[in-house]
Amino acid sequence: MKRIVTGILAHVDSGKTTLSEALLFKCGEIRKLGRVDHKNAFLDTNSIERERGITIFAKQAVFHLNNSEYTLLDTPGHVDFSAETERTFQVLDYAILVISAPEGIQSHTETLWNLLKRYNVPVFIFLNKTDISDRSSYDVICELRAKLSEGCVDFSHDINLPETAEHIAMQDEELMEKFIENESLSEKDIIEAIKSRKVFPCLFGSALKLDGIDKFLDVFDKYTKAPDYKNDFGARVFKIEDEKGKRLTFMKITGGLLKVRDSIIQNTSGEQKCEKISRIRIYSGEKFTAVQEAPMGCVCAVEGLTFTYPGEGLGSESDSILPLLEPVLSYNVILPPGTDSSLALKNIKKLEEEDPQLRVSWNNRSGHINIHLMGEIQLEVIKKIILERFALDVNFDRGSISYRETISSPIEGAGHFEPLRHYAEVHLLLEPARRGSGLQFFSNCSTDMLDLSWQRLILTHLAEKNHAGVLCGFPITDIKITLTAGKAHLKHTEGGDFRQATYRAVRQALMKAENVLLEPWYNFILSVPNECVGRALSDLDKMSAVFSPPSSQGESSVIEGRIPASEIINYHTVLASYSGGRGSLRTVLSGYDVCHNANEVIQAIGYDCESDVENTADSVFCAHGAGYNVKWNEADSLMHVSSGISFKESTSVSEEQKRRAEEYVGSIEQDKELLAIFERTYGPIKRRSTDFFRTKKIPTDNKPYKAKNVLSGEEYLLVDGYNIIFSWDDLHEYAKKDLSLARSTLENRLSNFAAFKNCRLILVFDAYKVHGGRGSVEKVNNIDVVYTKEAETADMYIEKVSHTLTKNHKVRVATSDGLEQIIILGGGAIRVTSEELLEEVKASERAIREYLNDINN
Ligand code: GDP
Ligand code: MG
Repeated sequence: MKRIVTGILAHVDSGKTTLSEALLFKCGEIRKLGRVDHKNAFLDTNSIERERGITIFAKQAVFHLNNSEYTLLDTPGHVDFSAETERTFQVLDYAILVISAPEGIQSHTETLWNLLKRYNVPVFIFLNKTDISDRSSYDVICELRAKLSEGCVDFSHDINLPETAEHIAMQDEELMEKFIENESLSEKDIIEAIKSRKVFPCLFGSALKLDGIDKFLDVFDKYTKAPDYKNDFGARVFKIEDEKGKRLTFMKITGGLLKVRDSIIQNTSGEQKCEKISRIRIYSGEKFTAVQEAPMGCVCAVEGLTFTYPGEGLGSESDSILPLLEPVLSYNVILPPGTDSSLALKNIKKLEEEDPQLRVSWNNRSGHINIHLMGEIQLEVIKKIILERFALDVNFDRGSISYRETISSPIEGAGHFEPLRHYAEVHLLLEPARRGSGLQFFSNCSTDMLDLSWQRLILTHLAEKNHAGVLCGFPITDIKITLTAGKAHLKHTEGGDFRQATYRAVRQALMKAENVLLEPWYNFILSVPNECVGRALSDLDKMSAVFSPPSSQGESSVIEGRIPASEIINYHTVLASYSGGRGSLRTVLSGYDVCHNANEVIQAIGYDCESDVENTADSVFCAHGAGYNVKWNEADSLMHVSSGISFKESTSVSEEQKRRAEEYVGSIEQDKELLAIFERTYGPIKRRSTDFFRTKKIPTDNKPYKAKNVLSGEEYLLVDGYNIIFSWDDLHEYAKKDLSLARSTLENRLSNFAAFKNCRLILVFDAYKVHGGRGSVEKVNNIDVVYTKEAETADMYIEKVSHTLTKNHKVRVATSDGLEQIIILGGGAIRVTSEELLEEVKASERAIREYLNDINN
């Protein structure tokens, strides 16, 4: 029998629970359809879930179809519970991603998509709510292809239609070869392509109206395949639950067979533990069946194990990867008066066994139990669980944010550790890395200078510690650290010396660096009754949110954007009171970004990095047989080796450059007008003041601004779209009324021009003021139209591209932007003013007209 474990995932309210019910109903597992709205959905068994109409605890259901058994795990969709979602991902053979067809891809959909990619789970997509959608399926599929994967294919029709089959074949070279040979694809090929995540079948329907469910089941049954399991016993634990004191270990059997009274042997820190399985339960909804054995491919809950933990691999199975999303809020637990706090700690620690991310600890300074959570809903759930299980009515304090620190430009640091009969020296290059990338360690140090084994040791020391930043002592992140130089002593270097030198080198680099405080940000969707919009907007503004204008949806208005977690954590209560309970707020962690009130936070914490002796940046040198301390800012000149990297202070700006930079101020006036037009088109655009009139560094090397003259290859013309729109009178007039009209007129004229001149033309539009802009390139006629991504201006884009292109091509740049001129010409491109371009375009239009007249006559 084919056994498949699958999970349904979705952005909240897309219809995950409704679809689960529809599938079970269609397969005859349930007789009656529950309705989420009536609070009796089959899978929403927990009381908190029913009250809120959201799914919180992963429960499972089993259904049968033809000769196969499907286990459906209803994974928690709210992001407060994503750690559990992530663990569940690691036991899925296939995922079913529900997307609301009328709404398309929503913020959480992308988070889920990335996680599915991370855990390598094949995906079937169900596009729900077609009963209330007026979008064509083609339109929806295009969106999926652009935002998720080119491999999204509409499976609702015969997939051996030439166009569909060809699109499937295009996702994989081998498939393409087969397709060319046989002119069709076999079922087996398609199953493989889906399993290897090259193709993602998409189906349409309405879970509520039971529309498209049969078709979905057909396709799902036909194109899924059970994993190749081993015969040795293996299982992966994904959840621990407590049922009135009875401990349940939920696991998927990934090899062999698990029987009642089997022994599970566990090796924890060298110690062997052995426990017997006393009972095996197979759940479906609230009910379970006790069974004697569970074969591979089964998901079951086991009684009798006390040492297991979520994510653990049993038998031949390995442990799962750690969850990516981490709780960013830390709360103190306020116990009711007269409670024995050590007993309370012991109890609450039990919750941590079920969810390691809670990181329950005793905070000596505050005299409280501390706990880490993802947000307010999880807080409410935990409060209820603590009451039900331990009869403790606890409260939580306001909650504080887990901040992070990073650097804004590359810097090198060194640490030297040489007390008597010890020796180690380490040089590290620290470079800022992409947000969310964490710390990465590399070595670029010759083995002549430092033995490979020492180098490895240094990398281990880098990885073993949560290095404290110098602003507030928060962990550092998003930094690439490279070992650039180091020295050991043949006789005196001992274990531990390199640890000292490494820690000190990191710290010294941080002391020298420009440091940046990071805080967690949420993506949010706020919905309020129309009459409360004013209040909501003013609150969001005060909370430093970045958001798009409200869109009206009947009686309520919806505002989407990004907001610092610190500002929004306690907003649910505020919202409930002013909206009379009719407002709703959804938040999804989007990751760490620059802190909106860094100075305030830094002052409030009052960390003194110089006196943090446990994290010192100083070095220890040796003289006359004794070690002595050297302050971090005096240590560099005493170091014994060097990496040869130098960070020169930028030299002064020349008069000529200053003059040109001033010209740029003129274009800021244009920018203001551009902003006004943007706002008329897109509504008010909220931004941090620094985003807008970005101060840009002027290159300081004094290269002559001269175009290179020996060039080959095609000729390129890069056009700064909005600058041209502003300087050509007719386009400027259009823009005042309708920006898109101005854009398309420009596109058309430039298409003709490029065809006439036989050059490659790239038209660049600033989209950097458009919140959430991801950047895009589209082909319009024969030219490329680029929209820059958020925070990237057209001139930044042009600078980047022209720099690359000038190596092999003749490049001209059309713009009227003062500063751009300096940079582009420095790169060897030729500048065309907007007037010159207009003349050229007009000339080509005249020539084209004459040519057309000629052939018509
Ligand atoms: P979940 O949050 O993803 O589990 O979504 P639910 O299943 O709870 O559904 C959210 C809301 O959408 C409920 O009010 C459902 O009745 C409604 N809904 C679900 N599926 C459909 C559908 O196919 N069509 C329409 N019109 N509404 C639906
Ligand atoms: Mg639900």
